Amino acid sequence: FKRLKEGLSRSTSSMTTGIASVFTKRKLDGATVDELEDLLIQADLGIETATAITDAVSDGRYDKEVDEAEVRSIVASEVAKVLEPVEQPILLDGTHKPHVILVVGVNGTGKTTTIGKLAKHITQAGKSVVLGAGDTFRAAAIDQLKIWGERIGAPVVARDVGADSAGLAFDAIARAQETNADVVMIDTAGRLHNKAELMSELEKVVRVIKKRDETAPHTVLLVLDATTGQNAVNQVDVFTRAVGVTGLIMTKLDGTARGGILVAIAKKAGLPVHAIGVGEGEDDLQPFVARNFANAIAG
Ligand code: GDP
Repeated sequence: FKRLKEGLSRSTSSMTTGIASVFTKRKLDGATVDELEDLLIQADLGIETATAITDAVSDGRYDKEVDEAEVRSIVASEVAKVLEPVEQPILLDGTHKPHVILVVGVNGTGKTTTIGKLAKHITQAGKSVVLGAGDTFRAAAIDQLKIWGERIGAPVVARDVGADSAGLAFDAIARAQETNADVVMIDTAGRLHNKAELMSELEKVVRVIKKRDETAPHTVLLVLDATTGQNAVNQVDVFTRAVGVTGLIMTKLDGTARGGILVAIAKKAGLPVHAIGVGEGEDDLQPFVARNFANAIAG
């Protein structure tokens, strides 16, 4: 939480300072409300949430002096209202064995790293994991996943660069079934020659996965990079249409993050948010806690 708070404070400090400058010894009027709304929109919270916040701030306070702490607490509680319904861990209750997690997202968002971190969590919880190096487009992704596998003691199913990624996914599930593993996590490519090609490739991966287990994938995890701002909103649309995303992880909330975008996405897509990435290390994945996130956003 401290890490998240420090990271987000970098991004939200302008909002916090902004709130302070809008509300230091000022009466609430049309101008202050507009300024507040601009600030909230700049913080990527999305129009709807920005409006909900300004409405809540305005309610019963017009022409009165409003204090900064009061505004911040309203921001936090309105943001929490949006985020609480999407706070949801990945359900690994053993209904499916192996539970197949397909991990999708644009290159560089942190897919491979997130698989490693999540696999460590799952292993520590006493479950066995098989990793599938399905980003067969990039040698570095295959090597990186192998390193993660060694580090946490999870078998990695990999082939050479250029191999068929759907076939790789099939093999990884087969290996998990044969070894009676609890979970199999499959990495995927985040960039091919173009978007249409990438989406049809992912659709094929899903089709082939179903040949091995028709109930799979049980979780389709979209990894989003907080620093990409509004792009993340588009990525949710595109991947949801192609492969039916079931949940999100947002990474890089430790850096120059713009955590507000997660609020806009939660409001728009309503998809479960499972966890957040707050660093490059193996322990830098935290369960998503709406209230903590909302407090960090409000500064
Ligand atoms: P992929 O292309 O989606 O598989 O992305 P990678 O897993 O290779 O990650 C891309 C870069 O982002 C790497 O340098 C990671 O170390 C870094 N990264 C991943 N998650 C986080 C995070 O939560 N915080 C920070 N600061 N860096 C991250």
